[in-house]
Amino acid sequence: MKLVLIGCPGAGKGTQAKKLSKYFNIAHISTGDLLREQMKQGTELGKKVSEIMNAGGLVSDDIVSAMLAERIKEDDCKNGYILDGYPRNVAQAEGLGAITGELDKVVCFNVDDSVIVDRMTGRRGCPKCGQMFHIKYNPPKAEGVCDSCGEALIQRKDDNEETVVNRLKVYHETTAPVIDYYKNKGILFEVDGTGDIDEIFKKVVAALEA
Ligand SMILES: [Zn+2]
Repeated sequence: MKLVLIGCPGAGKGTQAKKLSKYFNIAHISTGDLLREQMKQGTELGKKVSEIMNAGGLVSDDIVSAMLAERIKEDDCKNGYILDGYPRNVAQAEGLGAITGELDKVVCFNVDDSVIVDRMTGRRGCPKCGQMFHIKYNPPKAEGVCDSCGEALIQRKDDNEETVVNRLKVYHETTAPVIDYYKNKGILFEVDGTGDIDEIFKKVVAALEA
């Protein structure tokens, strides 16, 4: 089974990707993780990617495509795979089709922007032990202090409202055409990404097994 998951930052597609990967025994491929792995391993590609990113540039579609083409040849992809975080625009979607052939399904997680803003701006993390909290949905026992180690919690710079709203705007502008692209191919499945994680998972599985 070859799947693509689409959803804005904070829509929970990473969580669903992990569950789906386990359930269907298919690989979970995040292009962000792939890039970081290549850099860590110091491969030729990784060195190239490091240079581009250190210079503040964007890694080209060609590089990502080449990396994906190699990745899906690996053993754990023989039953299929889930792509998470890619493609982000129509050019990438077209390039991807040349590598993967027809996809089985593209799952789009729909979550209202206001919900995403609420989820992301409320996040607080511990700089010492890494534990994550949410001021509304998963508050620490004492306000602003880590339950595990007592360190003062901090908010990531990226989680302020202005940045989140901007990222959502960019997401909608670039992803709307990708959604249409897959809708026209008749393989798009849209699911409400708000609410219980297991309920959402069940809906997606039902659609994929239908
Ligand atoms: Zn801590």
